[in-house]
Parts: sequence; structure tokens; C-alpha cells
Amino acid sequence: MALLVGLGVFFAQAQSMRIGLFPNQKFTKIKFANALDSYFILADTTFIGVMDHFSFCEISKGTNGTMDVVFQGTKTIGVKEVKIIASQREKSLEISGLSPGMKARAFEGDFLVRSVNGVLLMVNLVDLETYLEGVVESEAGTGQKLEYYKVQAIISRTFAMKSKQKHVKEGFDLCNQVHCQAYLHKRNGAPIIDSAIKATRGQIMIQQDSSFAPTFFSANCGGQTCEPSHVWNASISGLSSFCDTFCIYTKQAAWTKQLPLSQWKSYLVEKYHYPIDDSISAALMVNWTSNTRPAFLFHPGYGIPMRDIREHFNLKSAFFSVSSDGTMVTLSGKGYGHGVGLCQEGAMKMARLSYSYNQILGFYFPSYHLSLIASDYLLE
Ligand SMILES: [Zn+2]
Ligand SMILES: [Zn+2]
Repeated sequence: MALLVGLGVFFAQAQSMRIGLFPNQKFTKIKFANALDSYFILADTTFIGVMDHFSFCEISKGTNGTMDVVFQGTKTIGVKEVKIIASQREKSLEISGLSPGMKARAFEGDFLVRSVNGVLLMVNLVDLETYLEGVVESEAGTGQKLEYYKVQAIISRTFAMKSKQKHVKEGFDLCNQVHCQAYLHKRNGAPIIDSAIKATRGQIMIQQDSSFAPTFFSANCGGQTCEPSHVWNASISGLSSFCDTFCIYTKQAAWTKQLPLSQWKSYLVEKYHYPIDDSISAALMVNWTSNTRPAFLFHPGYGIPMRDIREHFNLKSAFFSVSSDGTMVTLSGKGYGHGVGLCQEGAMKMARLSYSYNQILGFYFPSYHLSLIASDYLLE
């Protein structure tokens, strides 16, 4: 019993983020395995056992909102909540999906599993800085400069703090998907990421009024960042569109997409009553270029938001021009992503050109300042 009391204290104090893992997968059966140290398994208040590198634990949906837990050949039924608690920090445990299938992915920290509306909800309880190691690797990949990883660490830390209420009704703070920010596994390699997190420990960006800054980012802005209102119908204090020449020769600077002219025409006519009989409008439909990032296709008067076309045709960005050979329409686009805020490929280029992380942040977020989060968010 003394052990359980001790565990309870550890569980309550040593974690600060609750990350919902793959909530859209709707798992009904999962498996925990490959523990790199000892993990204590609790089914409600019952201590089930200690999982090590050679044992595994399977959890499946039971009846009436409960779960069945199988560990070392013993099945426990009618469980409302499973807690899997690490005996040491900086160790990891692998989670895989058995139904539906999902390859094993390792996470640090503790875990909580509940059955909610007939599916298993997995929550990873992890401290902020450890979570960020996984986020920075998932969002920025490998092979970047240290200064870029510092930039990503600060914007991701700021986002995490600012958005902590995003999934509160579902029982966790943030999900591990792109919807919040990608945290697909613990940091796998690249000690440089660890160095960037440590070097910027607790650093965030704040607005003039000291609140957390909205540190939006996307892969490539296409040479001009996007006005937030083009994406979300609302402006955001301190964020406005500007030219970015750092990203124009990078990997995702340009794209093209072809579609039949008939499909393009019927989409515009059916969805927006496009005046096809008007000769000027008919000509624009197949030959239009905008050198700056527009909110609307052709002319604001037609009321066709670029954002909606991006969504409908699954385009990489909402920044493109239109041409046609008479049979096909070619959409020639710039950038990848919504384009608001920091441009990752531009910032990566700045880091390669030896700009420091605060110069890079200053370029993309000129209205915001660096600050430190309250020390009680940081655990020693
Ligand atoms: Zn989310
Ligand atoms: Zn850019």
C-alpha cells in the first residue's frame, strides 16, 4: 500500500501535459509493450503488476463503458481507468493499435486509458519539455540547424501553453495530431533537438499585453505570409501579411495541379454562380495571375474565397494562378500550408544563413517578444 501511495504522489506531481494520443483512430484494442524500464499497471485502484521489457499489457473495450485488461495471462474485467506509471523518467513504452492496427510508437511519461463512447481514449502524461522534444522532431524533422530547432521549440512551447484548453472537455489538454501539433512519438534521435529544448528552456513568445502570442506556423508561405483573416475570417492582433524572400527557392516553394477545364468550370458555376456568359469573366476563368496573396479568386466581387478552393481541390496552398490549354486547367501555386505566421522553410533557410533564433523569431513575429513561462510549469 505504501508503494501505491508513493505512486499516487509521483503521478500527480511529475507531469504537466495531458496529451490525447491518436483520438481519431477510435481504437477498441491496444497494446503496451517494449518497456525500457519498469511500468506499474493500475486498474482503477487495483495494482495489477509491473511491466518490464519482456512483458506486455493488452487493453480492450469491455461492456458498459468498461475495459478488459490482460497482463501476463490474467484478465481483469470491468475496469474504468487504467494507469500505467513509469518508475523512472526518460524511459519509454511502446503503444500499438490492435484494432484498428497501428504500428508501435514509443512515448515517455505515464499513461491513462479510459473507455469513452465505445472507444479507448489514451492520454500520455508527460512534462512539457519532454513533450516538446517529440513535437520538435515530428514538426521539423531531422537535419536542421540548432537555431532552427530553438525557433521551433519556442513556437511549439508557446502554442502548447496558449492552447492548453483545446481538448479539455475530452479529458486532455492537446491531441498529438496536426490539429494541435504533431507529437507522433518520443524524440528518436538527433540530440541536437534535445540541446535546442534545453537552451530555450521555458522560453515563450508573448504579446504586448503579456498573454501568450499566437505563434502560428506553416511549412512554406510561398514568398508572402498570409493575412489571418483569409484563413479564419478574423484578424489576429500582431499578425499581418508580409513578404518573405527566404523561402522562395526552397523545397516546397512551388506546386502545380491540373484538372479538366470542364470540372473547373462546373465547380465555379454550380458553387458560386460564376457568370460564364460574361466574356471578361470567361477569359479570367482560364487566365489569371496574382503576384500578391489574394483572399479571393479573380476579383473580390465574385466572392470566391481562395481558402475554399484550396479545401475543395485539396491544394497545397491558397496562393496560386490559373492557366489553361483549352482542355485542362493548370493551377500554379506557391508555398505549402495556410501561410500564417512563421514560415518553416524560410526560417530553416535563415538558420542556415547563420541568423540566430531571436533574429528569426523577430523577422516572423515582429510584434511579439520573448519571455519565460512561470517556473511552476517547469519541472526539475
Ligand atoms: Zn487537437
Ligand atoms: Zn516563406
